[in-house]
Amino acid sequence: MLYNTEAIVTKSVRYGENDAIVTLMTPTGRVSLMARSAMKPQSRLAAGVRLCAQGTYFIYQGRGMGKLQQVDLMASRRRLHENLDSAAYAAYFCELLLAAAPERPQADPAMYRQFIGLLDALIARPQDAELLARIWEAKICAWLGVSPDWRLCVRCGRPLAGPLRYHVQEGGILCRDCLQSTDYNRAFAVPEATAKILHLFERAVFEKLGKMNISVATTRALKQTLFYQLTEFAGLSLKSRDILHHLLDATVDEEGRS
Ligand SMILES: [Zn+2]
Repeated sequence: MLYNTEAIVTKSVRYGENDAIVTLMTPTGRVSLMARSAMKPQSRLAAGVRLCAQGTYFIYQGRGMGKLQQVDLMASRRRLHENLDSAAYAAYFCELLLAAAPERPQADPAMYRQFIGLLDALIARPQDAELLARIWEAKICAWLGVSPDWRLCVRCGRPLAGPLRYHVQEGGILCRDCLQSTDYNRAFAVPEATAKILHLFERAVFEKLGKMNISVATTRALKQTLFYQLTEFAGLSLKSRDILHHLLDATVDEEGRS
């Protein structure tokens, strides 16, 4: 069967000398394909199998893995590859998406639409990459079903009022009353704004994202909370996140020296 679909490349791995195995995100979910000879520089598939490329993909589906026949490229997103930081963030966003996206045809098309919004926002405002990462992490948690209603205490369900702590094992924020009967070792303090912002992040529209003023303490709490929610609670271990951290650490070192 031959079919075509719009899609974005979310993973591309060299296979043998010249071939590639690509994972596409389509509006209805992900699909992995064999792209024969795509790694040859003169291949007409070469541009279409790069990370974050978007286009119409023509696929032959027999038994087993489908084969990529042809690509009509709509956006190469070359600018993401011209900058080391942007490329690392793009790889991280793709890996997160693949952790949450179901196989074709089970995905909610909103996932695909929001992913496009995210990539285009990363190109338009690379200086906001960390903010975009937090928003994307919050959305991924929601899609994975590991987000509580962030405005409510994860244990008693009452609206939160500070001082608050995020509890790693309970995967949410605890109210003042519930904290009294809690082992503090696995709970860290978060500013009150954290809960409200996490709720906003889940619903944020990348195309309409304005400037956000988030304090340093809340920024740190958001990063920590989402990290634990993804690793401890959703059980994800993300390779691209480690690469990103090494890059960011290197940048801090350089700035510190100069
Ligand atoms: Zn409570």
